Amino acid sequence: MVIRILANIVKSLGICEEECISCGGKIYYLDQGYVCEKCIKSLKPYHPVQYKRLDYIRSYRVFGRYEGTLKDIIQNVKFHANIPLARLLGKVIAAYLWEYIQNLKPDLITCPAINVRRYWSRGFNHAEEILKGADIPYIKVFTRTGFDPASAGLKSEDRLRVVKSHHLRKNTIDLLEDKKVLIFDDVLTTGATIKRLAELALSVGASQVHAFFVAEAL
Ligand SMILES: [Zn+2]
Repeated sequence: MVIRILANIVKSLGICEEECISCGGKIYYLDQGYVCEKCIKSLKPYHPVQYKRLDYIRSYRVFGRYEGTLKDIIQNVKFHANIPLARLLGKVIAAYLWEYIQNLKPDLITCPAINVRRYWSRGFNHAEEILKGADIPYIKVFTRTGFDPASAGLKSEDRLRVVKSHHLRKNTIDLLEDKKVLIFDDVLTTGATIKRLAELALSVGASQVHAFFVAEAL
């Protein structure tokens, strides 16, 4: 009862919704007010993933497929700047990601940057928030300039501009030289972005580039 009242107060403040964003079911927990327990429990590493060859990427892992609850969560995190949900997603994938990290032993973990203008309007980088939720230390080596629209439904020349908008930050050469790098990203679609990021890291002497994606879009 007390939890119900508190939930209604939180809801009236606009902090959270009381219906699961994935199944529409009721939510009774206050730690995050977006996805019900049943949907959270349904999130498990998907096997077998159809691994394909990605240029410049020595190895990679994918947590799940870009569908159902996992897709609902990623979209909500990205388009509603939902930090609590990003942290929760990090917790969900943490064990699987840590297992990969312990086997791989990368020297450095990083993730793509988002456009500065978009950062100011949204105030967060979703990949960084997911990493924070998983308790994974990361170092920023990439930056982003110019064109950065939401990538869904882009024409091919616009996609190319998006890919080219990724750059290395200044003074990152010393960080990357001779290092085994793990790049974390949310969704693997065509692989064009990860290829660009890997090319950048290798161009300043990274010894190997590996990748981890929360989901693979088929
Ligand atoms: Zn649900």
